Amino acid sequence: MFQKVHLRLTLLCTGITAVIMIIMSLCYLYVSESGLHRNQFQAFRNDINTISTNLEHQSVISMEWLAKMEAQGNYLFYVLDNGTPFLFNRLNDADENAMRDLLLQESEDAFHSQIDVTASVQTSALTDVFSIVSHTEYEFVSPSMGTRYFAGKISMGTEDSALEIMILSSLLNLEQQMKEQRLRFFLIDIAAVALLGIFSWFFTGWLLKPIIENQKKQSLFIASASHELRTPLSVILSAAECCKTAPPERRENFLKTIILEGMRVSSLVGDMLTLSQSDTHRFIVRKKPIELDTLLMNSYEAFVPLAQDKSISLSVELPENALPPCNADPERISQVLSILLHNAISYTPEHGHITLSLMMRRDKFHISVTDNGIGISDEDKKRIFDRFYRAEKSRSAKDHFGLGLSIAYEIVKAHGGNISVADASGGGSCFTVVF
Ligand code: ADP
Repeated sequence: MFQKVHLRLTLLCTGITAVIMIIMSLCYLYVSESGLHRNQFQAFRNDINTISTNLEHQSVISMEWLAKMEAQGNYLFYVLDNGTPFLFNRLNDADENAMRDLLLQESEDAFHSQIDVTASVQTSALTDVFSIVSHTEYEFVSPSMGTRYFAGKISMGTEDSALEIMILSSLLNLEQQMKEQRLRFFLIDIAAVALLGIFSWFFTGWLLKPIIENQKKQSLFIASASHELRTPLSVILSAAECCKTAPPERRENFLKTIILEGMRVSSLVGDMLTLSQSDTHRFIVRKKPIELDTLLMNSYEAFVPLAQDKSISLSVELPENALPPCNADPERISQVLSILLHNAISYTPEHGHITLSLMMRRDKFHISVTDNGIGISDEDKKRIFDRFYRAEKSRSAKDHFGLGLSIAYEIVKAHGGNISVADASGGGSCFTVVF
C-alpha cells in the first residue's frame, strides 16, 4: 500500500513542480521571442532608414550598389522604375526571377492590405533631384513559401519620374534561432523533470519513513495483543464450557479459573489502553510537588508481603537529609515503582535480595531498583522497553505480557526523565529512573 502512496506522492510532487516549471519556461520563451522579434524589426527599420538616407545622397542607383547591399544585409531588393521592374531584378535565372516576381507581388498585396498609405513616413516633398517621398516597414507571410518576411517600401522620385524600392528580409534565421531556443528549453525541462522525479522519490520516501515505521509498529502491536488475548480468552471459554457439565463441587474451580483469566485480560487491556493514550497524546500527567521519599516508602510497604511470599528480602535506602519536593504525578510514579518492583520480585529467585533506593545528584532525582535475580543479557537490554518484548528466560511467567517496561518508559518520558537498565554488581539487574 505504501509503495502505491509513495509512487503517487512522487508523481504528484513531480507533476506540480513540472507544470510550474513548464509554465515559467513558456512565459520566458514568450517574452524572449517577442523581444527578439521586436529588436529584429527595429534593426530592419534602422537599416531601411540608413538605406533611404544613402539613396538620398546618390544621383544614380547603380546595379553594383544594389548587389552589394543585397549581399551585405541578406536582403532582397526590388526596384520599380515608374512601375516597371528595374533591370537588376532580371539578372537571375528564370526560376529565380519567377520566385522574385511572386514574392514582390505578395509583398505588394500585403502592403495594400495592411498599410494605410497616408500613414507612411513622409520624409520630403518632390523636387527636381531624387528624394525619398516615404518609407514604410511591415511584416507579412509569403503564402506561396510559408516564410515570414519583414518588408520595407521606399518611394522616391523626381518631379517627373517615380522609383519604388521594395526591400525584403527573410525571418528564416530568426525562426531557426527561436526553434533552437525552444529545443534547448525542451531538453532542459526534460532533464529538470527527470531530476525532480528522482528527488521527489527520495524526498517522499524520507517523509513516509516514520509513517511506515509507525504502521509496522502498530501492526506488530495488534498482532502481539491478539496473541496475548487469545490464550486467556480460550481458557475462559473452555472453563465456561466445562462449567456447564461439571458436577457442582468442581464448578468452583472452573469459576476461579474464569475470574483469574478475566483479571489477566482486564489488566492487559488496561496496559494497552495506557500505551494507546500515550501514543495519541491523551496520556494525562497531573504534576504537583510531592515528597518522593514518602512515595517510595509507600511502594516499599505495599510490596513487602509479596516479597516475603517468595522469601525475598526487600530493603529501602533513602537519603538522610530531607529532599526538596519533586514536581511529578504521584499516581504515575507509583505505577513505575510497582512495575519495577513487580518485575524484580518476579525475576529474582527465592532468598534473593531487592533494594529500592532514592538519591539526589546534580539537582536530579535518581530512583533505583536493584535485584540479584536472573539478570538481563546485553542483547535483551536493548529490547526490553519494546512493547510485548519478553526475554526468552522469562517467557514462562504467566502474569507478564511484556508491556510493563514500555509503560514505565512512557511515564518517565512524560515527566521529561530517563529510564535505563544496567547489570547489578552482585549479578541481577539495576533499573534507574532519573528525572
Ligand atoms: P513483563 O510484563 O514481561 O515483565 P516488562 O516490559 O516489564 O514485561 O519486561 C520486559 C522483559 O524484561 C521481561 O519479560 C523480562 O524478560 C525482562 N525484565 C524486566 N525486569 C527484569 C528484572 N528485574 N530482571 C530480569 N529481567 C527483567
